[in-house]
Amino acid sequence: MELGFEGKVAVVTGGGSGIGAAISRRLAEERAEVIVADIDLARAQGVVDGIRDAGAKARAFAVDVTKPEAVQEMIAYAVRECGHLHMAVNNAGAHCARTATADCALDVWQKTIDVNLNGIFYCMKYQIPAMLESGGGAIVNMSSVLGSVALPFTSAYTAAKHGVLGLTKVAAIEYARLGVRINAVGPGWIETPMLSEHADAANSRRMAALQPMGRRGQPEEVAALVCFLLSEQASFITGSYYPVDGAYTAH
Ligand code: NAP
Repeated sequence: MELGFEGKVAVVTGGGSGIGAAISRRLAEERAEVIVADIDLARAQGVVDGIRDAGAKARAFAVDVTKPEAVQEMIAYAVRECGHLHMAVNNAGAHCARTATADCALDVWQKTIDVNLNGIFYCMKYQIPAMLESGGGAIVNMSSVLGSVALPFTSAYTAAKHGVLGLTKVAAIEYARLGVRINAVGPGWIETPMLSEHADAANSRRMAALQPMGRRGQPEEVAALVCFLLSEQASFITGSYYPVDGAYTAH
């Protein structure tokens, strides 16, 4: 399937690891120029080096998506260095320790909402005007299966990921006639550093078993969906949420 990314510029947050790294690589394989943005510049640079070694175009950028000024600078950098912004994947996210709702510490609540929800708002706030200037574009916001169903002891993360769906739908309606499409994706349990940090081997097997396919997903399986949604193949798709979860939410 021809995705038509030649000459297009994309920003991927959390692009230095896991799902964001797979999306950055896939966009570059499809000939987009990619800004790989991450809080960890060395990690983003590692992804960029791999992309450049394969003969494609990418640049690394250090950003903390919880800082609006840093996000604004990231988008200004993309436009300054590459001339335009056509695509964005707001993927940076962080899990939090599992506790009952009343036991969730205030700073954990705030940090989790800040990274997973406020960060996506800050990104769209600066991406949408840049895309309008570039003649239109497409955004994919990273939610989770926990954007549509609940998992006990994850109230801050689940609330943030549900919030991403609401934010995505509102913005999609607002910009539908102006040429900016905005969708959300909800991965199930995907094999990434984030998941490994929160699961020992037994827990990991249990999570895989929760998915009717009986295995964890791979970052590349999320990247395939994200790149389709960013492409002109998805030209009538906006304001929607797509799980990629081995049927976890089909129960
Ligand atoms: P990952 O491997 O931990 O990658 C996330 C990247 O984002 C890391 O490099 C992380 O850096 C970076 N990051 C964290 N906070 C940031 C900030 N404030 N500003 C910029 N970058 C920041 O995680 P992943 O599993 O690929 O997850 C990617 C996205 O998918 C997240 O939004 C996550 O919630 C979502 N998701 C993942 C799964 C799964 O099973 N893996 C399932 C559902 C949804 P640090 O490591 O230094 O924090």
